[in-house]
Amino acid sequence: MPYCDHNATAPLRPEAREAVERALSLTGNPSSVHAGGRAARAMVEEARDAVARLAGAKSESVIFTSGATEANALALWGAVEATMDAGKPITRLLVSAIEHKSVLKTADAIAERVAGIRLEIVPVTADGVVDIEALTTSLQNEGRALVAVMAANNETGVVQPIDEISRLCRAAGALLLVDAVTAAGKISLDAGLCDYLSLSGHKLGAPQGVGALIVSDAAPLVPQLVGGGQQKGLRAGTENLSGIAGFGAAAKAALSNDEKRTRLAALRDGFERALKEALPEAAILGANAPRLSNTSNVALPGLAAENMVIALDLDGVMVSSGSSCSSGKIAASHVLAAMGKGDLSSIRVSFGWNSSRDDADAVVASLVKLWQRARPRAAA
Ligand code: PLP
Repeated sequence: MPYCDHNATAPLRPEAREAVERALSLTGNPSSVHAGGRAARAMVEEARDAVARLAGAKSESVIFTSGATEANALALWGAVEATMDAGKPITRLLVSAIEHKSVLKTADAIAERVAGIRLEIVPVTADGVVDIEALTTSLQNEGRALVAVMAANNETGVVQPIDEISRLCRAAGALLLVDAVTAAGKISLDAGLCDYLSLSGHKLGAPQGVGALIVSDAAPLVPQLVGGGQQKGLRAGTENLSGIAGFGAAAKAALSNDEKRTRLAALRDGFERALKEALPEAAILGANAPRLSNTSNVALPGLAAENMVIALDLDGVMVSSGSSCSSGKIAASHVLAAMGKGDLSSIRVSFGWNSSRDDADAVVASLVKLWQRARPRAAA
């Protein structure tokens, strides 16, 4: 069955499955001193090295978490709490309008619960790129800021200018959180550009329920889970050994070489060309901005995303509408709304490590079939 929903979750990579199985056959808590514990510890540290390489970071800066939702919460709450009683407390959260809900809702909760902190939403352009002028202006206002901008958007694939944002944040003395969940393995990452960087294993072909926060040396952080003192006391709890081993193996496999990137880009570009040829009415959102090579956000005039997703599903083709974490309950996309395209309804087609030409062709064929059936009503 054609699976074109890699931005929601990627199929388990064979390398990850093998690492998970190896981990599951071990008996030992990574904190135990005996041989079993040492073997488990070695696996955790091997994975830490691989994840660090993927993020362009040092191994010591990787904190394993239950996923990117936890990593984002740890960064935001951890930074706010750590600076609360310091000379320069964070008083403003500058969050891009297209962030994942795990960032937006956590920032919202912080602003609601912590006196003296306010949330400011940073707009994006019609192409879905963070509005640098607006961010520059906001950064000039009084009060220390914590900025959150993702490396690439999960709905449109639009890549954000993190280099430039990093320079602006540094100049203003602001902290920067980069959610690199969708970008990881598709473009090079440089954790040195930010203070916090979040990753999720399952978007790379690792099992679900494992992720990481990369924290730079100088970044303030108060742990949110305390207890056994694991991971240098920054995230207590016995490590999810099999998940972490799978994450490490997936990170290693995902570290893109040019050949893999070219293959994926050719697949996605070929898909968009075939779609536009068959259905000139189709709009590809974010296509004027730099995009990840695996994502297409497609709108057909008059067709609701929900109907497209269901029609494709009936043909055995899996895609999603809007962000993965809201699938099941298809709501209007806050990302399209931020791009001033709130009246559009679109689907996200996202390819990945095992996608083929047949998968891409199946999406086009199914959309053409749907359009022929629904066009008279859509045009009415
Ligand atoms: N950030 C982005 C951009 C995502 O797409 C997702 C998941 O959809 C998350 C964060 C949350 O990741 P996790 O599922 O690991 O909690």
